[in-house]
Amino acid sequence: ATQSEIPHIAILPSPGMGHLIPLVEFAKRIFLHHQFSVTLILPTDGPISNAQKIFLNSLPSSIDYHLLPPVNFDDLPEDVKIETRISLTVTRSLPSLREFLKPIIESKKTVALVVDLFGTDAFDVAIDLKISPYIFYPSTAMALSLFLYLPKLDETVSCEYRELPHPIQIPGCIPIHGKDLLDPVQNRKDESYKWLLHHAKRYGMAEGIIANTFKELEGGAIGALQKEEPGKPTVYPVGPLIQMNSGSKVDGSECLTWLDEQPRGSVLYISYGSGGTLSHEQLIEVAEGLEMSEQRFLWVVRCPNDKIANATFFNFQDSTNPLEFLPKGFLEKTKGFGLVVPNWAPQARILSHESTGGFLTHCGWNSTLESVVHGVPLIAWPLYAEQKMNAVMLSEDVKVALRPKVNEENGIVGRLEIAKVVKGLLEGEEGKGVRSRMRDLKDAAAKVLSENGSSTKALAELATKLKKKSVK
Ligand code: UDP
Repeated sequence: ATQSEIPHIAILPSPGMGHLIPLVEFAKRIFLHHQFSVTLILPTDGPISNAQKIFLNSLPSSIDYHLLPPVNFDDLPEDVKIETRISLTVTRSLPSLREFLKPIIESKKTVALVVDLFGTDAFDVAIDLKISPYIFYPSTAMALSLFLYLPKLDETVSCEYRELPHPIQIPGCIPIHGKDLLDPVQNRKDESYKWLLHHAKRYGMAEGIIANTFKELEGGAIGALQKEEPGKPTVYPVGPLIQMNSGSKVDGSECLTWLDEQPRGSVLYISYGSGGTLSHEQLIEVAEGLEMSEQRFLWVVRCPNDKIANATFFNFQDSTNPLEFLPKGFLEKTKGFGLVVPNWAPQARILSHESTGGFLTHCGWNSTLESVVHGVPLIAWPLYAEQKMNAVMLSEDVKVALRPKVNEENGIVGRLEIAKVVKGLLEGEEGKGVRSRMRDLKDAAAKVLSENGSSTKALAELATKLKKKSVK
């Protein structure tokens, strides 16, 4: 087939590795299984990070990528929330997106523009250029169900959601307290809430929503999402789509050699995602707790930040050495059983390594899915975005995670509690339960992605629908 006959889709990932990584996996799979070609179009607000660069340069040749010119944010206040910033990166990139897309559509049989959770403003360009708008939702079916329910919630609740005395019943999900809902709904007066509601109201414009999840993990929420209702897009659960090898060129691959030398299932991997940061006080407690637990660990350490929990979301190339913030003597004392990696580690490889026996995670959805695919049980330590919702679901509903208790007085998880939960996961009875349920989920995940599995079928259904468009 020539260029103009192969169905082509354009994908617009909004800023953040947690959005880019699963969208690329989606692109690889729809190429591999259904021969679609793909162009990634990335809106930016400055130079891209090293991790992004390495990641983009290792894309297969079936995927083209293009960086849109950086938008200007000089007018934004310092403390602007990430959801606002992400949304604005997209809206301010619309003119350059249109300019870039137009000639592509003329030369390639472009059938759809796929955006992610905060990209719905690009639908205007898609509709204008007569290609179908789609959403790839990189988080849980639970969060998606909340997005679709939000306009109604907004109309019926007048106070802040966190002040509601009863838990909220998101369609198909475990009841959840308002305070555990995602960050941008915690303050309805903030711009980030307005953006969220704006996007939520536009979800109905999509011709379909691709969800990175599967029934055995989120049966209730997926059931509710697939119930037909007027104005509700078809939802395609195609997950778990995860990166299988996070770049061999990434710094920190020496930790894989270290892992090779550890006993099977003995190491706790600790990472707070691409954006997560702890306060200095909390960082010290984690260090002391790990030392006290006497368990093997591999810890990705970032410079602490006492003000915000997602300090490295947009940029983690700080020149400060994060290891300087660890307690004095920590590295020497833990040398025999622990390894510390500054800033970024090849997580996909670590989780697939047989020495890894547990994962202390911020509950970002990609991290969670990577753990599910490799059958690694969790300690849930949510920090920002929708992570508290994920933590509630994983510890109370799916029951594949233990959750350390936060000291209500100072908001800190103390060293004793950390040592207890780490030991509990790797050696205790409570760890056995979550480990065995995680193994079942791992098997289920492999099954849904196999030849006749539900996720493979959902993707095929989507591909068929898109290919019909290319016949026109
Ligand atoms: N990641 C990684 N090394 C790190 C931190 C993160 O490879 O040191 C990858 C991780 O494997 C996952 C993604 O970055 O694929 C983070 O996505 P997630 O949804 O878990 O969290 P977010 O960073 O979006 O909060």
